[in-house]
This record gives sequence, structure tokens and C-alpha cells, in this order.
Amino acid sequence: MPLSATEKRIRELLIRVARGESVARRTGRISYKEVWEHIHPDIKWGQGHTWDVVEWITHISAVELQNGRPPLNEIVTPTNKLVPKDPWGNAVQGIKGHLKKLSGISAPYKDHEEAQKACWRYWANHSDGGPSSDEIALNETEVEEGYRQDRQSSFIKRNRKIIDAAKKRDRFRCQACGFFLEVDGRPLIDCHHKIPLRHSSGVRVTKVSDLVCLCPTCHRIAHSRAYPLSVKEIRRCRGL
Ligand SMILES: [Zn+2]
Ligand SMILES: [Zn+2]
Repeated sequence: MPLSATEKRIRELLIRVARGESVARRTGRISYKEVWEHIHPDIKWGQGHTWDVVEWITHISAVELQNGRPPLNEIVTPTNKLVPKDPWGNAVQGIKGHLKKLSGISAPYKDHEEAQKACWRYWANHSDGGPSSDEIALNETEVEEGYRQDRQSSFIKRNRKIIDAAKKRDRFRCQACGFFLEVDGRPLIDCHHKIPLRHSSGVRVTKVSDLVCLCPTCHRIAHSRAYPLSVKEIRRCRGL
């Protein structure tokens, strides 16, 4: 049961959450609403969307279990709760039972807490996403989209002030590799948006902290994955 393009993007997002990257308000956990907003920044969240998110994350987790990895749905919880709403366990309503039905695998964890810890531990120690890069062939246009958007003149015009502020803050230097070059007195540097603004042509960036300066090479590397690589990951990728 292959993952859909949306599910692949959500999986990448959940891996970043599991690694403790600051992509959600909390560390190590993300809410249903936050997942939705990452995937559909243009469609207003409503309680009814919880079920869409639940369906995606259970499917993702079934595939994870089949590949010997912990179920990522366990780090998706209501904003005010530490664990998912439904009980763990084999009962009809239990997540473990449901995952077993979908995947044929019985998850070896005794409760939500254990399953969450397994996610955090696994993803702290697996930098490349395990077999995911082969297993998950990303849609080329989808990967390209974020890069194109960051470089589009309309995007730059709309966000000029905030982009200028980010460049000044970073002193026109690549924050991954330190690259700095002036051509004809103008620094050659890209401004990269850390959270992809997919399918949202009219978006205005509001926070300088959402932007980071990258050289053309590091910027390309950032967008080699649908959910852009973090500065830390770019460095790792370049052996820095
Ligand atoms: Zn660089
Ligand atoms: Zn970018």
C-alpha cells in the first residue's frame, strides 16, 4: 500500500517532529491542526479535518511498522494532551489493534508512552530516514516547487522588506556553509523560506525567523526533498 504524495510529505514532517526540530509549537509532538496547516496552509482548519489527518497518519504508521520502524502517528496528539486521543491496545477502538489490522504487524509497545519514546529514539539515530529515500520516490515537481517559489520575483517583491532584514541579520552569508561572494558589489545570496509555502501564491512572509540565507548550492540541497532540509541537515549532507 504505497503512500500518497500528501502522506509522503506528512511523513517527512513527522520525522522532523520526532527529531525535535522546531517545526511545531511543541518539541517532539505535533497537533492534528498543525499537521493540517503544514499540508493545507490555504484551507482553514476545522474539527472535521481531524479525521483526514488520522487517516493519513495511521496509513503512514502501518507502512512504518511493515518496515520495522515505530508508528509515527503516536507523536500526533491534541494540543492539550501528551498522547493520542484513542487508547493504545488491541480493543476495537485501540490504535495498536487498528494498526495491526492495516499492517499485519503487532507493534511491540505496551502503551502510547513507549511507542512515542521509540519514535524519538529511532529518529534521533537515523539521519537519512532509513530506507525511505529509495522507498519513497518523490514527485519531482513537488520537490522543485519550494525552490522556485523562494526565487520567484513576485515572491521576493512581496516579501522584500523581510527578506532584506533576514539578509542583513545573516550578513549576506550562507548559514550552512559560510559562503560569501560579492559580484559587482552585490552579495550573491538566496533567501530561503524554512517552511514551504505550498500552493499559496499570495503568501506574505511575516517573520524574519522563518527565513535563512543560503548560497545557491546549499539552497539547491535544501530543496532536494519535499520538506526542505534544515540547515543542520544541509551541513551534514556537505560533510561540514
Ligand atoms: Zn552554502
Ligand atoms: Zn528555499
